[in-house]
Amino acid sequence: MLKLFKTILKTGEATVKYPFKPLEVCPGFRGKPVYDAEQCIACGACTVACPANALTMETDTTTGERVWQIFYGRCIFCARCEEVCPTRAIVLSEEFELAVTQKADLYTTATFALHSCPQCNQPFTTKKALALTMDLLAQSSGDPDTVEALREVYECCPGCRQKYNLSTNGSLRMRQIAVGEKS
Ligand code: SF4
Ligand code: SF4
Repeated sequence: MLKLFKTILKTGEATVKYPFKPLEVCPGFRGKPVYDAEQCIACGACTVACPANALTMETDTTTGERVWQIFYGRCIFCARCEEVCPTRAIVLSEEFELAVTQKADLYTTATFALHSCPQCNQPFTTKKALALTMDLLAQSSGDPDTVEALREVYECCPGCRQKYNLSTNGSLRMRQIAVGEKS
């Protein structure tokens, strides 16, 4: 018996006081993904990468909106969303206590306005994604005139860009098409 007490004293505490004391998690712990709709541009990269289908995105061309959604009930905390997000809009936190009293509380959604191609009128991206593209272009070129000249190219959908061959003289050609001139 004395030997047993000695062993216990030598070993020390082998258990933790959780839930009576907060539990410290190890560095790099992958807990609840925290989403920041302000940072999100609704590019959809995370929804493609998510292996558990916890992330979804639906585009409604009639309302001109795209709805992004996470359902925490399906999340497996793999961090693929964090890896692929270009704006750090979704980051895994250290939070692991995810119990809720209503299933609805396991959902987070955000709605984004779509941008339509001025040529064919088809929505193909979000206004926020286009704004970010133009901002990055402005930062990399440093020339506001160049950015403005390219704006009409970037505002068009990939199909129209390809159709009207905007790579070189496309800007001029696009203007001609827009006013009904024949090339
Ligand atoms: S952590 Fe993994 S499973 Fe959870 S939302 Fe992100 S990609 Fe999906
Ligand atoms: S990858 Fe990032 S920016 Fe793109 S939809 Fe997901 S959270 Fe939003």
